[in-house]
Amino acid sequence: MEGDDETHGYEGPLHVSRGGSSSALAEEFIETARTLFGWESVVDSQDFKTLNRTSRWAKWIDPRTGKRSDAAYGYVHPILDTQDSLHLLLESKVVRVIFEGTKAVGVEYVKKSVLYSSRLTGSKLFANEGEDVSPKTIRARMLVVISAGPLSSPLILQRSAIGSEASLISVGLTNVISDLPAVGENFQDHPLLPTFFQVNTGPDDTSDDLVLGVNETVERAEKEFQHGRGPLATNFVDAAIKLRPSKEEVSEIGGEFERYWNENLAGKPDKPAVLSALATVRPYAW
Ligand SMILES: Cc1cc2nc3c(=O)[nH]c(=O)nc-3n(C[C@H](O)[C@H](O)[C@H](O)COP(=O)(O)OP(=O)(O)OC[C@H]3O[C@@H](n4cnc5c(N)ncnc54)[C@H](O)[C@@H]3O)c2cc1C
Repeated sequence: MEGDDETHGYEGPLHVSRGGSSSALAEEFIETARTLFGWESVVDSQDFKTLNRTSRWAKWIDPRTGKRSDAAYGYVHPILDTQDSLHLLLESKVVRVIFEGTKAVGVEYVKKSVLYSSRLTGSKLFANEGEDVSPKTIRARMLVVISAGPLSSPLILQRSAIGSEASLISVGLTNVISDLPAVGENFQDHPLLPTFFQVNTGPDDTSDDLVLGVNETVERAEKEFQHGRGPLATNFVDAAIKLRPSKEEVSEIGGEFERYWNENLAGKPDKPAVLSALATVRPYAW
């Protein structure tokens, strides 16, 4: 994929591409942005500096296989058969980190189908009849890394008695390992505002025919996908722009936005306010 060598590498285990097919609407998006607003297009705007420029959008799709390129396939699967030191426990759920004093020495886990009570004490278990619900432990020789995403990582910490002392004590966890009030706080989602348009296009320009199961399109898509191409090898996000408003636009918007902007983003010229992307998918996919 063409792009700036200073921004993107080409050798690593994770791959990006523009996908196996591209909607003709991407060109219209780029052209409309230019003629209506004066936002020119560049080859690659997916860096940490380019703003108010449209570009064709790259995604985590392997250009050779057309498949989603992710950490599991990029890093884990290729070494599973060769690296004896890596053990993968599937369908297992970490309950908490085990501590000796303030040192993390292992993890406690259960089979994934076993649900813990939402109370932090974790004393109640719900499981299928006859299922082994007993928590198992794994000892760490060097260190424990928690990487369970923004929702689960704080929960694991809290179940391990790390978090706001007052909250932990209120649910019965009295042996607090570390009083860290920020754990589980300040979660920030990124809001999405879709605006829908009806369009008149070819079969691969939107996901419609695939989603609706139009036989001809599905059969062709499956054949193309064997070669890493076609509408199954894309996410239908083919053009986008990162927008940063001017000072005048910020004051025109005013209110809470202007206050937040001035406090957090005004002095950071590399930060956009919004990512505006063209997604040629059926509305109910959202
Ligand atoms: C719909 C969607 C689309 C996205 N698209 C993009 C995109 O196109 N580009 C981009 O850059 N980012 C995208 N993101 C964001 C990106 O996916 C995340 O930023 C990234 O995956 C975070 O990585 P992570 O390793 O921190 O957590 P995750 O990828 O969430 O991994 C956490 C893992 O921990 C496991 N886990 C959770 N709890 C436990 C437990 N108790 N015990 C054991 N395992 C547990 C989960 O099953 C999961 O496998 C998208 C996110 C969503 C939801």
